[in-house]
Amino acid sequence: MSIETKKPVSFEFFPTKTEAGHEKLIATGKALAAENPEFFSVTYGAGGSTRDGTLKTVLQLDQEVQVPTAPHLSCVGDSKEDLRSLLTLYRESGIKRIVALRGDLPSGMGQASGELRYANELVEFIRAETGDHFHIEVAAYPEAHPQARHFEADLENFIRKAKSGADSAITQYFFTADCYFYFVDRVRKAGVDIPIVPGIMPITNYSKLARFSDACGAEIPRWIRKQLESYGDDSESIAAFGTQVITELCQRLIDGGAPSLHFYTLNQAEPSLAVWRNLHGK
Ligand code: FAD
Repeated sequence: MSIETKKPVSFEFFPTKTEAGHEKLIATGKALAAENPEFFSVTYGAGGSTRDGTLKTVLQLDQEVQVPTAPHLSCVGDSKEDLRSLLTLYRESGIKRIVALRGDLPSGMGQASGELRYANELVEFIRAETGDHFHIEVAAYPEAHPQARHFEADLENFIRKAKSGADSAITQYFFTADCYFYFVDRVRKAGVDIPIVPGIMPITNYSKLARFSDACGAEIPRWIRKQLESYGDDSESIAAFGTQVITELCQRLIDGGAPSLHFYTLNQAEPSLAVWRNLHGK
């Protein structure tokens, strides 16, 4: 299996709580930088819980590792003033891309108190404050957002968000290529032509993946679940099977016209690299 020319690729990280974790993250960034990614991105804890960590990680990856790095920014729980000052800081630091989200407040953080309720309002706010300075990414949900009333309502909301000034979108991860193709087809039929990049989750640990997938509404097909369950704690078999399944998914997505791939690295280089190298027959 191999793709002829390299597709653009991007890698996502989360800011860590400890200095040791941060050092490891930067080392991971350096390993992935060798693949010439289009950009890195760094998540943001809704309500500002990782404001300093996100900022520090973004600036270090961007300036020291020298890969253009996009902060994620969410509006739930942040005031317009908080958002404005972060946007100013990022702009003054030469950051050119941002991932704009509504976010989910961590449990225990209380009621959302942000002035902006949905991501489309955040996109409008960023455009109003900063014009065309930022390339704005938004989130897309080929299997529908878990809180959506139904698929059609979520599709309409995505289309509104795209039209409010987004340049491109990154999807929630999924394991069935058809949901991506159906979603893209419906978005195109609505006259929206921004790139929609599949978010790719390497498989390395079944129980964590199952928990996370339940929360974010990503379906793990029965045949994948059954296979992963059968491996128990055998992490080598999980990694080998996971790499094969995700490589085949990526190949189908690329063959079907996906413009690039965005890997949720969970701050580890090897699982994403194994898939990326497989795709190029390395
Ligand atoms: P929205 O697009 O606002 O949608 C949220 C819900 O509201 C959906 O059900 C939608 O159908 C509905 N909706 C949207 N607009 C409207 C409207 N105008 N009126 C009525 N209903 C509406 N979370 C974090 O906290 N930090 C991160 O760094 C982070 N990074 C992410 C990166 C990617 C690529 C993805 C896919 C998700 C990420 N998330 C992150 C998770 C995300 O914040 C959650 O999924 C959140 O619940 C929704 O965010 P959103 O931007 O998609 O929201």
